[in-house]
Amino acid sequence: MAAPVLAAARKMIRGEVLVAEPMSRHTSWRVGGPADLFVNPVDRADLEQAVAFARRHGIPYTVLGHGTNVLVRDGGVRGMVIASGRALDYWSVEGTRVRAGAGVSLPTLARRIARHGLTGLEFGVGIPGTLGGALMMNAGAGGGDMSRVVRWVDILDEAGEPRRLGLEDLGFGYRRSRLQGRRLVILEAEMQLEPDDPAAIQARMQQHLDYRARTQPIGTANAGSVFKNPPGDFAGRLLELAGAKGMRVGGARVPAEHANFIVNDGSATPADILTVIERLRRLVRHHHGVDLELEVEILGEDGR
Ligand SMILES: Cc1cc2nc3c(=O)[nH]c(=O)nc-3n(C[C@H](O)[C@H](O)[C@H](O)COP(=O)(O)OP(=O)(O)OC[C@H]3O[C@@H](n4cnc5c(N)ncnc54)[C@H](O)[C@@H]3O)c2cc1C
Repeated sequence: MAAPVLAAARKMIRGEVLVAEPMSRHTSWRVGGPADLFVNPVDRADLEQAVAFARRHGIPYTVLGHGTNVLVRDGGVRGMVIASGRALDYWSVEGTRVRAGAGVSLPTLARRIARHGLTGLEFGVGIPGTLGGALMMNAGAGGGDMSRVVRWVDILDEAGEPRRLGLEDLGFGYRRSRLQGRRLVILEAEMQLEPDDPAAIQARMQQHLDYRARTQPIGTANAGSVFKNPPGDFAGRLLELAGAKGMRVGGARVPAEHANFIVNDGSATPADILTVIERLRRLVRHHHGVDLELEVEILGEDGR
C-alpha cells in the first residue's frame, strides 16, 4: 500500500488502520495470512467512511464479523478487511421487534432478547459469530435459522448505495442467501419475535448449549461444521461412518467429538486444514458416493 494512501486512510478513519495484520488474530481457526490493510472502525459512520475510502481508491474490501466461518489462506487477503464487531455493535427492542447492527454477537443478542421475554432466537445462543455473518449464510441450529425471524436487512450494495432488502429479496435457504458472493456490506437488520416466558426461553437456550457441550470440541480452535449437510442426511454421520475421526495433517485434526469439525491444535497452517478438507471430501465420495459442499468460506490467496 502506497504511503500517501495509508496516511490518507489513517486521517479519514477514526478506528485502527493496521498494515499486514495477520488474519490468524481475527479468525476462530486461528490461522490465516495478513490482510494488506485491516480496519477496525469505531462506529457505523466510521465504517461507512472506510468503505467510501476503499471505493474511492479502488481498493477491494471484505467485511468480516467474528471470523468463525472462514478459512483464510497463507497468502492473506488483498485490499482492506473491515471489522464490523465494534462499529455495528448496537441493538434496540420495540414491542416484539428487535433492530440490531450487523456486528452484534449472536449469542449475546439471543441472551438479551430472552430477558425481554422474546422467543425465536434461542438457536443463536451457541453460534459464536455476528448477526451479519449469520444473515450471510442463514445460520441456524436445532431447527431454527435466521430466515424465520428476519423482516428486512439494510445493506450498502455493490455500488456502495444504501438499500433495504425484504425477506423476499434475501432468498434464504439451507445455509445460503442471496447476500453471498457479492461485494456488499450488511449494516443492520430487523427481526420479528414472539412473546414468551423468559424462564422457558432460558431453558431452551440451555438445552442448545448442553447439546453442544456433549457433541462438539468445546474450547478448541475450529470453525464449526466444515461441510453442509447433504439433502436428507448429516455430513457428520457420513464422515464418521467413513472413518474420518482422528484424521490428522500437521496441526489439523478431526476430533473425537464431531467428525464434521476440524480442530487446530495450535500449529496448524491453512494448508494443513485445506488438506484435511480435501481428504474428507474424497473419503465421503469414496465411501458414500456423496459430494460434500463446504459450509465454511475460503478467503484470501495461496502462499506468500
Ligand atoms: C464452535 C462453532 C460452532 C458453530 N455452530 C454453528 C451452527 O450451529 N450453525 C451455523 O449456522 N453456524 C455455526 N458456526 C459457524 C459460524 O459461527 C456462523 O456461520 C456465523 O454466523 C458466522 O458469523 P461471523 O460473524 O463469524 O462471520 P465471519 O466468519 O466473520 O464471515 C462469514 C462471511 O460473512 C461475511 N460477513 C460477515 N459480516 C458481514 C457484514 N456485516 N457485511 C458483509 N459481509 C459480512 C464475511 O465476509 C464472510 O463472507 C459455528 C462456528 C463455530 C466456531
